[in-house]
Amino acid sequence: MEAFWKKVVGGFSGPPERAAAVPIAQTLAQAAGAEVYAESVAAEGGALLALAKRGIEKSLLVAWPAGNRPTVAKDFKGKRRKLVLAGDPAEILEGTCSPANAAALRRALPFTAPQAIAGRPSIGLGDRLGVATPGHVRAVRGTGYVPMLAQQSIREMTRTGRSPQEVLDDATWGVFQTGFRTGFGADADHLKTADDIDLCAKVGFTFYTIDPGAHVDTAADTAPVAALAGKFDALPWKALETTAAETRRRFGRRRGDLGASGAIDFNEAILLRAAVKYGRAVAHTAALYRHLVKVRGKGNFELEVSVDETETPTSPAEHLYVAEELRRLGVAWVGLAPRFVGRFEKGVDYIGDLEELGRAFAAHLAVAERTGGYKISLHSGSDKFSVYEIAARLGGRRVHVKTAGTSYLEALRVIAACEGALFREILDFARCCYETDKATYHVSANLDKVPIAAVLADNQLTGILDPFDSREVLHVTFGSVLACGGGKRFRGRLLDALKAHEEQYAEALRKHIGRHLAPFVSR
Ligand code: ZN
Repeated sequence: MEAFWKKVVGGFSGPPERAAAVPIAQTLAQAAGAEVYAESVAAEGGALLALAKRGIEKSLLVAWPAGNRPTVAKDFKGKRRKLVLAGDPAEILEGTCSPANAAALRRALPFTAPQAIAGRPSIGLGDRLGVATPGHVRAVRGTGYVPMLAQQSIREMTRTGRSPQEVLDDATWGVFQTGFRTGFGADADHLKTADDIDLCAKVGFTFYTIDPGAHVDTAADTAPVAALAGKFDALPWKALETTAAETRRRFGRRRGDLGASGAIDFNEAILLRAAVKYGRAVAHTAALYRHLVKVRGKGNFELEVSVDETETPTSPAEHLYVAEELRRLGVAWVGLAPRFVGRFEKGVDYIGDLEELGRAFAAHLAVAERTGGYKISLHSGSDKFSVYEIAARLGGRRVHVKTAGTSYLEALRVIAACEGALFREILDFARCCYETDKATYHVSANLDKVPIAAVLADNQLTGILDPFDSREVLHVTFGSVLACGGGKRFRGRLLDALKAHEEQYAEALRKHIGRHLAPFVSR
């Protein structure tokens, strides 16, 4: 501690060596009368920073030599007192994990702020409860993958009663706690309007997923060519900054060579279908992109385009049309999520023909490679274990897997193991909400196959987290569970239990998210 404290005073910045971190944490713990996370200990600008835990509540510690409060420590709010630290008179501030202290922490330790992925391999790890980051870090540490630790759609924020600020702050505190210094991203997921963008831009999200799904005309898939021609002429040509005739000329004899995946020959029918289906979505995406440039500044954000939540699959030709049109309109993006063939239901494995999916996946990768080299994003990517092998083999680091709900299910697994009575209540409540809650998700669980809690012995509770039907039922009812009784019935108890069993939850996530990553990192 003494040597490290001297280094801190001397302006050293960074974490102490592993062997030194534990005694420093112990010294700080003694001083604060709390536990201190050894991995969180860091020095910056003449101050020592760490995260403490008293019971299940966490707090921030900032220490500096007495009488010499460094600039970096001035931003933090909390109670100050004098003490002797490693033989030297010092001062320590203890503050709550407030939004103001999170903002100050991001300024003091930039690794606790989200950053651009910048071409590195990445994985989306949504956290609906705000306590998953330490486990997510365990899963990705050492893999070279940049995790999206703050990742939430507006829909999910509404259902979980969390704000973009809270989503970001929870990731910041988790990253601080674990001393995860290699960088993480913040994905404002499934944004549909300029207002959605503003909410997330204001608090500093770095990655924006635009979902123009509401402007996709899936009826185009089956409409006769004559009907398509009329719809084609009625596209918003002004917003698309082109004309029907010019578009016909551009794509008329367009041949897209996809290497091993063959070639796309645009004929009249293929063009009309692609343009009618996705033309309005292209215009909407371009408008939202320009709005983002206005509010964030060009180069200060990364963009993904997602049409995964639409009714019918995106063909490679349609993908090519979308990519070329977006490019023509000056949109820059790093990832695209097509709607794939088959069913990507929530929290369960892929349902469909894996060979067909593999062919489509290869073709989409080929389009992405030839139109800018962006990633293919796999949404509803939780628990698609049969797909990862194929995706990893075909795309490797050019595949971004996006998960969220599965970390909530792992939380319930911990509750099932440690707080049986609470889990029983949640299970029965979820059974009641399922028929209503399933409306906005792609799921097909049969409620009759999900047992009521009363028939289960205690040692059968964690087993409920494995079968298809109960997984889906528990997965899509998270919003109702969290909101029940204004959050009074489950939310507080659930969070308190997870904080009390923090180690179990982190281990469960390390294992479970690790299984998602393994096929990718082993290549
Ligand atoms: Zn999605």
